[in-house]
Amino acid sequence: MERDLLQREIAALEIAPKFKHWINPSSAFYASQTGDLHRLFEESLIFGEYYRNALQNKFGLKGRISIVDAGTFKGLGGTSDALGITDKKKGQAFLVEFFKRGVSSIEAGIHEGLHLISFPLKGATDQDLAFAKRFGYPLMEAVTQYFTRIMMIEAGIKNWKTNVYQDKINKYLKPFFKAFDLLQFSIENRLKVLCELVFKNNLKFFIRCLELQLGAVNNSVPKNELPNWTNKLDLIFARRLFDEAVKFIEFFIQKDYKQAEAIFAKALAAKS
Ligand SMILES: [Zn+2]
Repeated sequence: MERDLLQREIAALEIAPKFKHWINPSSAFYASQTGDLHRLFEESLIFGEYYRNALQNKFGLKGRISIVDAGTFKGLGGTSDALGITDKKKGQAFLVEFFKRGVSSIEAGIHEGLHLISFPLKGATDQDLAFAKRFGYPLMEAVTQYFTRIMMIEAGIKNWKTNVYQDKINKYLKPFFKAFDLLQFSIENRLKVLCELVFKNNLKFFIRCLELQLGAVNNSVPKNELPNWTNKLDLIFARRLFDEAVKFIEFFIQKDYKQAEAIFAKALAAKS
């Protein structure tokens, strides 16, 4: 079911293969194609504004992506389930080569390209990614792969349904999205919130949207009490307890505040 995660997005956002530089694209990607990747990011309907923002800060993809052999990749800390690794401190991404031919995949190029332009553009450490620090690395990978799929469709890649990070999409992104669904976020707004978090670390926008939607799904809660409920939900998210966040929202919608409070108290007691 999660493999069709994008069907509604495609319909709602009219995401279409519009990128003309890769005609009948195969999945192969050579480091020499970074210029094409740059154009794909620049022209992306969803991510273009964030990439252009990076460019304004003198941070583009050109010169930042290389393809390395398996041994070098391992030495850089690349794991067996990853197609690439991004060093935020160096501002460099390394894709592991396939078949010892200096070739990787467009999927890997897009995925690591997204890490490169994620907040902060220039990290204090090699793993400095704001979204991951707040919501955990597994969800960060799942969200990045979700973005990657959108961009693969934009690039005209037909087989965007790969198994890359599918386990993390199932385990972390699914309950995360369930919370958004329960709060009746529109698909556009959900994507906007995710982009603002990943590329700008815009927690204020996230919290403002949570408060608006909590008010929308239960209008019997006085307006001045909404910030308090929002803070509680935000803390549950920050503790990375996504299934608990879903339960909290369900009880809140059912006006079972006692149970919602109990979920919060449990989350508060859990190790952060
Ligand atoms: Zn990744």
